[in-house]
Amino acid sequence: MSETTYDIIVIGAGIGGLTAAALLARDGYRVLVLEGHIAPGGCASSYQRKRPNGDTYIFDVGATLFAGFTAGGAHHWVGQKLGIRWPVRPLEPAMEVWLPDRRITRYADERWRTERQAAFPTQAWEAEGFWQEQERIADIAWRFAARQPALPPERLNELPSLVASIRPEMAWLLPHVWRTAGQALRAHSITDRRLRTYIDGQLLISAQTTAANCAWLYGAVALDFARIGAHYVMGGAWSLARVLEESLLRDGGTIRYRSWVRRILTHERRAVGVETERGERFTARHIIGNLTLWDAQRLLDHTASRAFDQKVTAAPTGWGAFTLYLGIGAAALPAGTAEHHQVIANYEQPLGEANSVFISMHPADDQSRAPAGQRAITISTHTNAARWWHWRTTDPPRYRAEKAAMADRLIATAMLALPGLRSQLHYMQAGTPFSFWRYTHRHYGMVGGLPQHLSSSGIFSLGPRAADVTGFWLVGDSTFPGQSTAAVSQSAIRVYHAIRSEL
Ligand SMILES: Cc1cc2nc3c(=O)[nH]c(=O)nc-3n(C[C@H](O)[C@H](O)[C@H](O)COP(=O)(O)OP(=O)(O)OC[C@H]3O[C@@H](n4cnc5c(N)ncnc54)[C@H](O)[C@@H]3O)c2cc1C
Repeated sequence: MSETTYDIIVIGAGIGGLTAAALLARDGYRVLVLEGHIAPGGCASSYQRKRPNGDTYIFDVGATLFAGFTAGGAHHWVGQKLGIRWPVRPLEPAMEVWLPDRRITRYADERWRTERQAAFPTQAWEAEGFWQEQERIADIAWRFAARQPALPPERLNELPSLVASIRPEMAWLLPHVWRTAGQALRAHSITDRRLRTYIDGQLLISAQTTAANCAWLYGAVALDFARIGAHYVMGGAWSLARVLEESLLRDGGTIRYRSWVRRILTHERRAVGVETERGERFTARHIIGNLTLWDAQRLLDHTASRAFDQKVTAAPTGWGAFTLYLGIGAAALPAGTAEHHQVIANYEQPLGEANSVFISMHPADDQSRAPAGQRAITISTHTNAARWWHWRTTDPPRYRAEKAAMADRLIATAMLALPGLRSQLHYMQAGTPFSFWRYTHRHYGMVGGLPQHLSSSGIFSLGPRAADVTGFWLVGDSTFPGQSTAAVSQSAIRVYHAIRSEL
């Protein structure tokens, strides 16, 4: 049995794991990344599908719309630190949101104010108060985040730098700390069902929960996504991971694919190494798990502390994603259509499960993604992951039938925005939470991190030492600040600073 020693081992080459690995390698540490899949990127990756007729598509598996590349953003800071150029370009508008009876264009610039007033005229005055509060909270929070606070604080020695990142303007946030977005809406007397549905839809995709349960500080920042600059990644989402991988290799790091880690090795409650499914062992002074909290618990096995077990038990259940990967004729797209659309079919039905879908396509001028005259499109909806798991493992025929029915419902909802979709279909593949599990080994195929409830957001989020095993660090969307490639990069920056201070 081989055993090789590194300074740091990273389990998983998602954006969180790769960012931490590249930053540490840049500083000269010996870094090994072990990735189970054949390519990097995890939920923010892409895959190529070549058809017998030669048509070739590049589909993004999950993430399609990116932020954090402007000054103060996590990717921006990482890019400067690594000396790399991100293959991104701004998107304007960020997206169009389709409600059953209206369409809202989510501009990044000052047109957004006019648009929101025109879109929701019933309570325009009250809504304006709400939006101004949201933007003020977000502005303060973005400035705070750019100072890279150690949140949530886990050690006394982190407090001085955390305190140093606090500014007097943050006192203004205090009344909002214990509020949900729903309470903020009530405080502004907003009852307009259309506006509330719009906000629920936007929060579901960015905070994994709707206004009733979403922590308002998080929600206000999540609703700001377009204003800070949405970006498209040229060539597909996998270009992000590839740039990070190149940086890691340039700086002497190592990455091994098809290497699933089955166990984190510990000695007297200190992580000392890992064992792969092939029986290889690698040791290191620090182990970073680019893992969900459930998977970290599984890999730590009996070593996980009772405190960690309690955190895992208390964590809210996340969502699964049902996805369609489509090649469609460009004739299906109305002239001048935006690249991203959120579509909500019915005000009376709960969101998710095909009643709300997110459509993404690459800009027409990125010709690397689809055959001439076609576009590669992803359509996704939030879905209950456990149900798919149950069908797949106990009743495969039902699983297949449900998959076909869900695909059909997704297309029907997407057609409210793109009416020509069905008639222009050249290629279609569907993915369930089971597919996400197969490719990423995430617990039940749950994606998108934890819903940002008051009890699981901000200072109540999990930090990188949540597992309470010395030398073991969590990065990724189970930890603060949550989901998105920008957020997991922020979690990686936190781990980078913490490990540097210990090495
Ligand atoms: C459908 C969908 C749409 C999304 N849309 C957006 C969006 O538009 N914008 C955005 O910013 N975010 C979006 N997200 C969220 C975003 O993709 C994730 O929050 C982020 O990519 C998670 O990164 P991560 O580093 O936490 O880990 P992951 O992406 O989960 O990567 C973890 C990696 O670790 C590997 N791994 C796991 N276990 C092991 C093991 N035991 N051994 C070895 N390797 C292992 C996996 O194979 C994987 O490569 C979306 C997600 C989904 C699913």
